[in-house]
Amino acid sequence: MIDSHCHLADKKFRSDLDQVISRAKQSGVSPLITISDTLKEGQECIKICDKFDDVYCAVGVHPHASRNWGEGDDERLMKMVSSEKAVAIGEIGLDYYYDNSPRDVQRKVFEAQLQIAKDLDVPVVIHSRDAPNQSSAETDSGSGQAIDDLKKIIDEVDYERIVIHCCTEKWEDVSDLVGRGFILGFTGIATYAKSEHIRNVIKNCPLEQMMIETDSPYLAPEAQRGKRNEPAFVVEVAKLIAEIKGVEYEEVDRVTEKSTMDFYNIN
Ligand SMILES: [Zn+2]
Ligand SMILES: [Zn+2]
Repeated sequence: MIDSHCHLADKKFRSDLDQVISRAKQSGVSPLITISDTLKEGQECIKICDKFDDVYCAVGVHPHASRNWGEGDDERLMKMVSSEKAVAIGEIGLDYYYDNSPRDVQRKVFEAQLQIAKDLDVPVVIHSRDAPNQSSAETDSGSGQAIDDLKKIIDEVDYERIVIHCCTEKWEDVSDLVGRGFILGFTGIATYAKSEHIRNVIKNCPLEQMMIETDSPYLAPEAQRGKRNEPAFVVEVAKLIAEIKGVEYEEVDRVTEKSTMDFYNIN
């Protein structure tokens, strides 16, 4: 089983990363893909990959940090993604919930990084989150929902090796992307009582187009709610998918592992 999205460079893992990774292994969770939010964190992720055999990474600038994107960052990103165990660009995208960077900047920096991914033909991990009240989104610099703006940019750049990670969208907003072969990633959020709409996406999305992830150290699944999340807990997401799909847990493990390895081109 793979944790396709965790943040091992996060400070919450600093004191016991060795134990976290060995607990994942003991639970049958390996390899791990560690994701970065900034280029600096990307460097940390590359160091973690050097240290641990079964860790790979994605490097990129999160929408929260996109206002810090500057001159030369495109070249820095290209260099980092060419490192041996960097398997993707991510996480990149749009976050209209927190608006930590202006939306026009988020769109510009997302587009720049997506173009780099296309030029280098590497997969992309996308983060998408909408404003708390979507109707207010229309008043902000002419933008719509995050997912709609993402689709526009994806079409402009014309690149489709994409996983929408931590999918919290409604099925009607992502069914077209699934139809085009995109992959959706699911986290412990899907186990929460209020997440009926996410469980509906799981019901509709083909198993072959799903990835399981923790997004740890945040978003612990219901069974571990309140604790720090960690890669070993990804089994809870697999259990939920098995239950919703009415298939064996081993089947979820086997199919999502294959899709993830293929997507990231890991042997
Ligand atoms: Zn994210
Ligand atoms: Zn993440």
